Amino acid sequence: MPPQSLSLRSFRAAFLLVLCLVCAQVQANRPANELGRIPILMYHSIGGEAEFAGGPRYDIHGLNIAPATLRRQLQGMYAAGWVPVNMRDLLSAHLDVPQGKTPVVLTFDDARPSQYRLLPSGKIDPDCAVGILEAFHRTHPDWPQRATFYVLPESSYNGVPFDQDGLETSKLRFLVKSGYELANHTTSHRSLADLPSRTLRWEMAFSTRYFRRQVPGLVMTTMALPYGIAPHNPSRWPLLLSGVQGGTRYRHRCILLAKGGPAYAPADRRFDVTRIPRVVSAPGEIEHWINTPAPLYVSDGSPNTVTVPRSLVGWVDRSHLHAAKLIVSGP
Ligand SMILES: [Zn+2]
Repeated sequence: MPPQSLSLRSFRAAFLLVLCLVCAQVQANRPANELGRIPILMYHSIGGEAEFAGGPRYDIHGLNIAPATLRRQLQGMYAAGWVPVNMRDLLSAHLDVPQGKTPVVLTFDDARPSQYRLLPSGKIDPDCAVGILEAFHRTHPDWPQRATFYVLPESSYNGVPFDQDGLETSKLRFLVKSGYELANHTTSHRSLADLPSRTLRWEMAFSTRYFRRQVPGLVMTTMALPYGIAPHNPSRWPLLLSGVQGGTRYRHRCILLAKGGPAYAPADRRFDVTRIPRVVSAPGEIEHWINTPAPLYVSDGSPNTVTVPRSLVGWVDRSHLHAAKLIVSGP
């Protein structure tokens, strides 16, 4: 390698380092707003097949995102000071996010093949979702291995999670060991609109049993509605949160929808665990929220305090603080 190309590389590395330090300083100086909203991104296929014959390979609805688009989205979120957390981490006001950062949850539904594929060599396909997340973590170690997978169990309705027979157990264990979250997306993926109570319990409990067998000790604490459709009768919603069926007890602390924009913060009295909205990951959606940062959550850096601008204090639900100290700061 000619010497000038080496010095050019060193210069570029130094420039990028300085840029990162400047960005980190700018983000640390963002005023804290722990009543701002939190994006929960919804992904389905990454580099999968077209959704219908003759249809576009990568669509505008966020159901099938090109690998290059996911990489670009991660880079954009990272540059904007977002940091990934798991969905279960959002259920407490003691959210632990570095100062000046905005938490984001990346959710992946249905355990689709393009989310986690192993190559014949045993390595993770670099173009599947897990391959892209792992590579991004390696090159950006302060972007932790966090994402929530709303998985479906093997049953008469679906094949094995991520669709490679015999590899599902090691994949599920790798995800949990690495820090990712596995969560309930029902058993059959039917619409829950009109199912009777006993079937709703079975939908939750069969999945819980399956994934506990796959990953001993696993506790699934959140659930996402197939198609975002809740039972029409709201008196049945509690059955999605807790119950017992076939000797299996399940307890979920929140229910996710399939649209609706960024979620309210856990300390906000509008934070409703039975209806938590998500942001569709279609190209342009995430960029929209990156470029509209005003209403988003910005951490004060301490999990034991909730820092809120004066104008938003009226929205704080003190019963959601769980011993975190409320600090009023800024206009
Ligand atoms: Zn689904």
